Amino acid sequence: MRTSDDLLKALDRWFGFSSFREGQREIVEAILDRREVLAVLPTGAGKSLCYQLPALTAERASIVVSPLIALMRDQVDRLNDGREVAAAVDASTSRRETDRVLRLATDGEIKLLYVAPERLENVAFVARAKTVAPAYVFVDEAHCISEWGHDFRPSYRRIRQFVDEVGAPRVSAFTATATPEVRRDVVKQLELENPAVFVQGFERPNLALNVVFARNKPEKVLELARSINGATIVYAGTRRLVEEIAERLSLRGVDAVYYHAGLDHEARRRSQEAFLGGAIDVVVATNAFGMGVDKRDVRAVIHATMPGAVENYYQEIGRAGRDGEPADAWLVYDDADERLARFFIDANHPDRPFVRALYDALANYGSVPLGERGDGDIPVSSEYLEAVFGERLNKAVVESAVGALEDAGRFAVLSDRRRKHAARFLVSKERLRAFVKTTRDDVKAASVVAVMREFGGAALSSFVSFDLERMATKAGVRAKDFEEAMAALERAGFVAYRK
Ligand code: ADP
Ligand code: MG
Repeated sequence: MRTSDDLLKALDRWFGFSSFREGQREIVEAILDRREVLAVLPTGAGKSLCYQLPALTAERASIVVSPLIALMRDQVDRLNDGREVAAAVDASTSRRETDRVLRLATDGEIKLLYVAPERLENVAFVARAKTVAPAYVFVDEAHCISEWGHDFRPSYRRIRQFVDEVGAPRVSAFTATATPEVRRDVVKQLELENPAVFVQGFERPNLALNVVFARNKPEKVLELARSINGATIVYAGTRRLVEEIAERLSLRGVDAVYYHAGLDHEARRRSQEAFLGGAIDVVVATNAFGMGVDKRDVRAVIHATMPGAVENYYQEIGRAGRDGEPADAWLVYDDADERLARFFIDANHPDRPFVRALYDALANYGSVPLGERGDGDIPVSSEYLEAVFGERLNKAVVESAVGALEDAGRFAVLSDRRRKHAARFLVSKERLRAFVKTTRDDVKAASVVAVMREFGGAALSSFVSFDLERMATKAGVRAKDFEEAMAALERAGFVAYRK
């Protein structure tokens, strides 16, 4: 029997904390109640504990998929305070060490096995991981599974298959990214079953958001950095701007390190350590810096470049003030930023008259009479559109207007690239899974998995259409083989397939 008292005891015993933070208890309880969980909590809210606690109190080991090696190691070090309850396996882990920790995990001595997603692609590793028969699989930074998210990691797409291969334990997912697309995508791709969803308030009362105009960004950043007392992260959009700002700061008496993906591993590690350890107050970085960085006393986050999306902005400023003390976010922008942002807004949100005009133009071109349904294809050329709308037609705007019409079900776009094939599975999901698990035909298995990943249950209830090449690429097979696999499955009564 588990009482709330037991949970508090475990919390104290394993972490030395006397109380749960908002949301944590409910999530831990849901996991212990054998629910699959999707937890969307802001950065710094304490997501790790939500899965570490159930893992530590379970009989068997759990597997945690986490995208960053540094992050995994950091968590493992914290957990292994004078004992070995956690271990990490990434691409650099030797075979011997991998075997050792897998054995300990199989015995349930190690409770948390952190695994880098790339490992999941390694057939030998997956085969050996089966022996662990994990109690749970936890997916940290789960937004990495989604192409809609800002940190897409293709190997996250392997997680579901991995879960099935290690005996289909319960899966829970954790992220700070709350957009509906990403959330849906996480649930769909991990095939979470009736998940308990927790979304926690994103208000950060100790963060002050400031927006300032600057003619000269490095100069403005210098001025701000001088005025800030404490650790500061400066985000800039390009490596060049990162280096330019860092140099300006250093030359003018503000010690700064910089960090971007163009630096080698060692240089990045040095910058990160200097900043995290407090030797240097200012780090200038591209958005490559920060995921999982747990520095509690960051006093300011300065953006010298406007982030691509509000979600990125929220994530990045979320790294300030995690200790609860007042902190500032500064967004420094210039005329060019504003023009660029407006361009994208216009491009992504075509106005109504334009969408209407485009629709009329296409219907005209295809000679579809008003109020009737055209049934043929309308082969439109860009020349025609230019003739109607003039030379200055913006391709991006046309694409998003077409997208809007497509979403509204007004027409379907056929092109060489898109939507030429369609499939519908005729057997249950369970049978498909069993088939994927047992078949010796990798091409067939990969083809089925690719379609299921893309469409989930929809592929069982109706035809889903897709581009052959793209789907084959997702399956990691050649288009010709994908088609043959589908033809064979069709003969076996598994699938209905249309070209
Ligand atoms: P997230 O993954 O949500 O960004 P972390 O799991 O890294 O957040 O936790 C952020 C910080 O909060 C860590 O330093 C962690 O030790 C601390 N923390 C988590 N839960 C508690 C708690 N119940 N009491 C005190 N500190 C906590
Ligand atoms: Mg985290």
